[in-house]
Amino acid sequence: MIDYCPCGNNKTYKECCKPLIDGVEKAETAEQLMRARYTAFTKAKVNYIMRSHQKKTRPLKERDKMQKWLNAVEWMGLVVVKTEDGNANDSSGTVEFRAIYLEDGQTQVIHEKSFFEKEKGKWVYVSGIQYA
Ligand SMILES: [Zn+2]
Repeated sequence: MIDYCPCGNNKTYKECCKPLIDGVEKAETAEQLMRARYTAFTKAKVNYIMRSHQKKTRPLKERDKMQKWLNAVEWMGLVVVKTEDGNANDSSGTVEFRAIYLEDGQTQVIHEKSFFEKEKGKWVYVSGIQYA
């Protein structure tokens, strides 16, 4: 069985998000970072979720709560709806996505437009707006 990456790219986890989550490689585009963050959510890798967040707004206080929540939910899939800028030569960009998860047996969807910036040459998550 092939261990496909949870982010939905047609690649194995090892070839896709793992090197980013392990800190071996850095994301070239905002979309790559977004995908690695989604994968980190599916694997409850809170360290990466914090590390890939803009430093000054990093929600360190929510760390424990997030870890608990991630242990309680099951991620079903990611759909990248639209990207704007966020390429290797840009300094900012947005990614609109839908992420589906199960919580208490209920299917939930996060539909968000996320904002990314480069911080010392590395893409980081800044903030997001959620669609109802
Ligand atoms: Zn991936």
